[in-house]
Amino acid sequence: MTTRAATLSALVLIAALAAADCRTATRRTAPNAPPAPSSPEALRAAIEKVRPLHKLMGPPQPGDWLDTFKEPGQTFEEYLKGNPTRPEGARRVLYVQPLGHFTPAQTRVVEFTADFLSRFFNLPVRVREPAPLDHVPPAALRKSPIGGGRQVKAGYVMMEVLKPTLPTDAAALIGFTSVDLFPDETMNYVFGQANLTERVGVWSLYWLGRPDASGDDFKFTLLHTLKIAAHETGHMFSIQHCTKYECVMNGTNSLQETDRHPLDACPECMAKLCWAAGADPRERYARLADFCAQHGLTAEQRLFQESARALEKN
Ligand SMILES: [Zn+2]
Ligand SMILES: [Zn+2]
Repeated sequence: MTTRAATLSALVLIAALAAADCRTATRRTAPNAPPAPSSPEALRAAIEKVRPLHKLMGPPQPGDWLDTFKEPGQTFEEYLKGNPTRPEGARRVLYVQPLGHFTPAQTRVVEFTADFLSRFFNLPVRVREPAPLDHVPPAALRKSPIGGGRQVKAGYVMMEVLKPTLPTDAAALIGFTSVDLFPDETMNYVFGQANLTERVGVWSLYWLGRPDASGDDFKFTLLHTLKIAAHETGHMFSIQHCTKYECVMNGTNSLQETDRHPLDACPECMAKLCWAAGADPRERYARLADFCAQHGLTAEQRLFQESARALEKN
C-alpha cells in the first residue's frame, strides 16, 4: 500500500484568520517615558540584542519541510501589517483539555506543557478536568493504515467535543489526547489540527514518545510536546512558518526534523508573540529559563538565560 507520511503540515489551519484589531501604535504613559517592552519600537530593539544568539537556517536536507514546500517566511514587520489574530480583551485564557486515558507520565507531560505554554505566550493557562473520549461515532473512527490501531478523526474532536465547551474568555481551547488522530483519508496520521476561527485545536501524544519508559524517554517526550504545542499555538496567533532562522516555528516533516529545531523562537518570531500577548521579552526569557531548569532541559535553559541577559544590557 502506498501511504503518505504524516507531516506537521497536516496541522491543517482550516479557516482564514479571524479579523483582529491591529494595534501598532506605541503607547507611552508620559511624554519622556520609554516605550512599553511589548511595543513594536522596543521589540525591534530587542530583536537586534538577541539576534547574535540565533542561527540562520542552512539549506534543507532531502525530505525536510523546505525541501518539499517553498514558503516565503514572515518578518516581524509583515506580521504587524497582517492584522493577526491575538489574545484580545476578555479572550486571554489558554484552556488545556485532557481527553481520554493517560498514563501517569503522560499526565505530567500535559501538566508541564500547560505551564510552558503559559510562560511562552504570557497568558494564563487553565488545565481542565480530564474528559472521556469513549463514545466516538463510527464516522469519526478508522483503523490506522500503518498499524491497524484505532484512530479518531481530529475534526470530530475539535467541532463535536471541544467546540461546545469553549469558554467565552478562551484565547484558545487545546485538547491533548493519547489517542492516534487522523485528519482525512489522505494521511496516515496527524500530530494535531487547529481551527483558527473556532479557537479550538487538538494535539496527540501518540507519536511523541513513551514517557513512562525511562527518565530520558520522559524528557524527550516532554521536549517534543513542548515544541509542537508552542509551534501550533503560535499558528493560532497567526505566526507563520519561519524560514530565516532555526526556530520553533520552522515547518517540519517528521519528528526527526523537529528534533533538529530549537525550542526557542527566533528573534523575529519572539517579537511577534511578545507583541501579540503584550509580553516583556526579558521577563519571558527568564520565566522560560526557570522552566527549563526545573525539567533538566540544560541546553534550552542556557539559551533562554543568555537571551534574558542580552536584554538587560542598555
Ligand atoms: Zn506549522
Ligand atoms: Zn522564527
